[in-house]
Amino acid sequence: MRRASVVALFALLACTTEVTVEGSDHDEGEDVFLSDPDLPDRMLFAAGATVGDVARTACSTAGVKPLAQQLLAEVNCLRPDTLTSIATIPGVSLGAGALPQLNVGAARGLRAANRGEAITISSSTRATAQQYVLYYWYQHGRCTSVVSLAAKPGRSNHESGVAIDVPSYSAWKSRLTAQGFRWLGASDVVHFDYQGAGAVDIRSLAVKAFQRLWNRNHPSDRIAEDGVWGDATASRMDRAPAGGFAIGPSCSGDATPTPPPTPTPTPAIVSLTGVIYEGSDTSARVAGATVTVGPRSTTASADGVYTLTGLPTGAVTITASKSGYTTATVDRVLATGVDNWGSVSLTRASGATGRLVGVIYRGADTTSRIGGATVRLSTGQTATADATGLYTFPAVGAGAVTITASKSGFTTRSVTRTVAAATENWGSIGLSTGAALIDECGDVTAAGTCDGAIVSHCDGGRLVQVDCAASGQTCGIDADAGYADCQ
Ligand SMILES: [Zn+2]
Repeated sequence: MRRASVVALFALLACTTEVTVEGSDHDEGEDVFLSDPDLPDRMLFAAGATVGDVARTACSTAGVKPLAQQLLAEVNCLRPDTLTSIATIPGVSLGAGALPQLNVGAARGLRAANRGEAITISSSTRATAQQYVLYYWYQHGRCTSVVSLAAKPGRSNHESGVAIDVPSYSAWKSRLTAQGFRWLGASDVVHFDYQGAGAVDIRSLAVKAFQRLWNRNHPSDRIAEDGVWGDATASRMDRAPAGGFAIGPSCSGDATPTPPPTPTPTPAIVSLTGVIYEGSDTSARVAGATVTVGPRSTTASADGVYTLTGLPTGAVTITASKSGYTTATVDRVLATGVDNWGSVSLTRASGATGRLVGVIYRGADTTSRIGGATVRLSTGQTATADATGLYTFPAVGAGAVTITASKSGFTTRSVTRTVAAATENWGSIGLSTGAALIDECGDVTAAGTCDGAIVSHCDGGRLVQVDCAASGQTCGIDADAGYADCQ
């Protein structure tokens, strides 16, 4: 009869709680006391005393009460609103060592049963630390005047919050039974189990509460948080501080603190600069290319430089495009506090090419050739003028090209031509010695050189160039002055 009702209870509970319940556990869950094990005793425990110390030296569980309260608070974190305090129920008096927590449904039933009349509860919910002490006594034959039978930790109904011990049980038996309590009977006359609405088995959670608190305080000696009472858990309980763990209950969960979520950063606004060039020569700039990053775009200047502002930090793709070139991209990560630089190389679109030739000559005299000059194209191609000043590029992509000629002693000069496909295109360049003379102007007050019809000379440290042809003259050495002049 009794077993049948118990099995029926746990069959019901199995549907209402995540805790695995074995129907036969209740028979092991009896604790038979000859006196109140929770009564305060005169035993004083020094700081650092363990649950095992209390079990081995005291005949009261009072020494582990601080830890017991932590464990019940942790249970409340694991399953909120399961336990409540009965200390405020009118008429209810708690035994000196009893904890006030009780299952919410059981508390409701108790309140309905006593209806404000005086009732003494000698024991209600018991934490696993207390049950460990009782079980130790029972196993080792200690404190036999207090306990004659104790359940293994994790097996007592008092750990589940559904049991109360009522010393004046006979006076309350019918009213408690009417509110869902079951009297255990002759084997433990003061013991009532609540089986009404809201009764849940949290014995496994009670064990888990200890395992979590232990791990939270011993990250290098972690045990499984499985709610199962075993040797690993028992040995830690024996060593657990009777006065409570340094790090107490936490409803925020795991023993390992979860780092606060990283706020989504607001991207800083930065600018980006770069040059658009052709091939592998960064000085071969491509003018007028369109540069795009995300929704923003701009046009590169005549010297191929672009700047984009208002860009967010982080990874971006820079796209450069221009008619006649293959669109190209580069990836950059933009950041604050640095110069964000993103140059892009463009390759002339494959296709039609034309031949490009020209001569490098002095000044305006195309017959006065400069051999050995370097000729560089904005395509990145280079050539050297031969002894007659002639340079040749057999194949240059059709379209605009900048031709730059340079030679030591002469001022570098560029011209722009449009190369037509499948034909010979010309791009000759005259170089002057002006730059060479500029270098000397600081020292030379009156001297001149001829570049074809152009005479360059210094005048008061400043370079002066005169086109002799404009006055119908030619440039030559003035025999009297000993320097070049228009004659
Ligand atoms: Zn009991």
